[in-house]
Amino acid sequence: ESKSAGRNTMRFFDPTMQALVAQRTALESDLRLGLQRGELLLHYQPVVDAHSRVVGVEALVRWQHPQRGLVPPNAFISIAEQTGLILALGGWVLDAACRQLAFWSHRSATAALTVAVNVSARQFRHPEFVEQVMDTVRRTQASPQLLRLELTESLLLGDTQDTVRKMGELREHGVQFSLDDFGTGYSSLSYLKLLPLEQLKIDQSFVRDVLTDPNDAAIARTILALGQSLGLSVVAEGVETAGQRDFLLQCGCTLFQGYLFSKPVPVEQLLLDDPAAHI
Ligand code: C2E
Ligand code: MG
Ligand code: MG
Ligand code: MG
Repeated sequence: ESKSAGRNTMRFFDPTMQALVAQRTALESDLRLGLQRGELLLHYQPVVDAHSRVVGVEALVRWQHPQRGLVPPNAFISIAEQTGLILALGGWVLDAACRQLAFWSHRSATAALTVAVNVSARQFRHPEFVEQVMDTVRRTQASPQLLRLELTESLLLGDTQDTVRKMGELREHGVQFSLDDFGTGYSSLSYLKLLPLEQLKIDQSFVRDVLTDPNDAAIARTILALGQSLGLSVVAEGVETAGQRDFLLQCGCTLFQGYLFSKPVPVEQLLLDDPAAHI
């Protein structure tokens, strides 16, 4: 017993672990300040149709850190989730994306663009999530029909009743839902019927080797068939080559997102028909 306690104590004082904890605490307070100081920004990545026309964009958050430079979301989203900071961060993202959406709706060249926003589990589970979204839509005068919320399979694994109710309420206001990173999680297929989804996004891990790995090709085909039979649109994520795009197009895919078309970029670099189409 004392041995195992000893091991635990050793583990606790493990210098690498201590350094890691210190690092995370520093990152958290830094992020909290960064949020207050206006260091967060959105990049936008186009979603294109079979003719490479931009039909929408996905908003992806970045952190312009005074010392570290441009920090990608994978470096701070999970910390924000763990500390609850994701509520403020997610609120900021929603607000910024909706303001951009409202701006675009007033210009003919961009009036039909959808804007997709990633939603984290903790944000979605918050009792006031639906109010947060609808308040933001009203305040910014964004049209809810053009707002698309991206959820992940793991998020859906939570309280099903709560999920169905929240999605249903937002759907009634016109908000649409995409299932992000589809195929990597454990969601039961019966969920797809139960939930008011509009779209599946084929995870980029299946797209990457779609030309060389027959299993990935089979998975991509299966997701496309599933989407078709359930009446859901399907986007292929992470399309980097014309070969991948052509193959997916042959499989019936009509919506694409990836470096082949554009990396996520600041709004003023988006290749939209109207060069003045940004705030
Ligand atoms: P995601 O929602 O699946 O977004 C797609 C990610 O794939 C983005 O990474 C994008 O830059 C990257 N990507 C797009 N096309 C390609 C491609 O052709 N090749 C490769 N290799 N990558 C490509 P990013 O921007 O670093 O975001 C990573 C993840 O962070 C997102 O994955 C999303 O889960 C999360 N995230 C981003 N912004 C937010 C946010 O505002 N809120 C929340 N909760 N999560 C966010
Ligand atoms: Mg996404
Ligand atoms: Mg994804
Ligand atoms: Mg992802």
